[in-house]
Amino acid sequence: MSVETGRIYLDHAASAPLRPEALLAMEQTAGLLNPAGQYASGRAAQRVVEDAREQIGELLGADRAEVLFTGSGTEADNIAVQGLAFGALRTRGARRVHSTLVEHPAVGESVDWLCGGLPLPESLFGHVVVPVDAHGRPGPVEDLTPDADALVTAMWANNETGNITDLVSVLGPAVELGVPTHVDAVQAVGHLPVDFHSLGVSTLAASAHKFGGPKSVGLLLARREAVIDTPVRGGGQERKLRSGTVNPQGVAATAAALAAAVEEMDAEHERLAGYQARLMEVVRSIPGAVIYTDVPGGALPSHVHASFPGAEGDSLIMLLDMAGVDASTGSACSAGVNRASHVLTTMGVEVHTARGALRLTTGPATTDADIDRVCALLPGVVEQARDAGTAY
Ligand code: PLP
Repeated sequence: MSVETGRIYLDHAASAPLRPEALLAMEQTAGLLNPAGQYASGRAAQRVVEDAREQIGELLGADRAEVLFTGSGTEADNIAVQGLAFGALRTRGARRVHSTLVEHPAVGESVDWLCGGLPLPESLFGHVVVPVDAHGRPGPVEDLTPDADALVTAMWANNETGNITDLVSVLGPAVELGVPTHVDAVQAVGHLPVDFHSLGVSTLAASAHKFGGPKSVGLLLARREAVIDTPVRGGGQERKLRSGTVNPQGVAATAAALAAAVEEMDAEHERLAGYQARLMEVVRSIPGAVIYTDVPGGALPSHVHASFPGAEGDSLIMLLDMAGVDASTGSACSAGVNRASHVLTTMGVEVHTARGALRLTTGPATTDADIDRVCALLPGVVEQARDAGTAY
């Protein structure tokens, strides 16, 4: 339970609390000025940015020049997906974009925009939907040709279910052929070991606030040879791919948070897997529960995502909220309306069942006592939510 709020925070996949190492780095760099300034204070800020770039590159298996700072994971995904697709169209006339329908909106809406959302008489790109299995995992994307295929994009770990995709098998054929590839690794970076070079992909997106860094700092790893016609125009910072003044304080804190997350990854993995097993046991004991997180082994240890048909996800989170627990349904809700998650319906889950979804995600802030309390609360919360019924 958080000492400051007196609440139990089980929404780490949405945003993790700031790590003390990140806070310290922010305090130490708070006075820094414009890193692009051609004078001593500018050079001091630039040194901090470059040190952070180098450290992040080392932690993620990338060269320093391949590490670009953006304003969010969403922005990194947008630059990569749109930029790689337009780059492939310009240089090779390639027009096909391959992705699943379980992507985060940062990728999904970018693909939709490319493949029909542009105000043109005809779509510039065609969308090839990559099918997924019942756990939301795609198989290998094959039958590609560099002349026709502009981009294959896939997510590493799903933000709702926590299920992990075998990227080497999904993207391997595209990497081998030289078809541009993007990985949305926002849920993976800081939680799974990442080696950008050995993945062989063109670009990879991450977000600092998912691993205890500050909000509104994103990372885009981009190979030097990747052709990216960025949608962001301006002053030409970050290899001309992400114009805008870089935030030295934010990137120093991001590097500090990532170093701490990588350092404690193995121990934290084991600790959270223990919590996951306990939460799963309780979920399984609730009649009718449908579990989406593929454990053991196939998912991040932080996630427990399940439905309780007959209950509304909104009621579940409201009742937990009243009991002092921060949790979520897992899906981005639009204008406060609880819709069935596109991830779950793509996995073949019926709308009625999908609407009863609850996601509990643990992290560094979670304690044994938190899990004891939530395990004790959950069956009663589901019963109460079921009594309230579903609103149709
Ligand atoms: N991609 C995935 C898989 C995510 O989970 C999120 C955030 O929830 C994003 C992208 C967007 O990241 P940000 O919040 O930094 O814009």
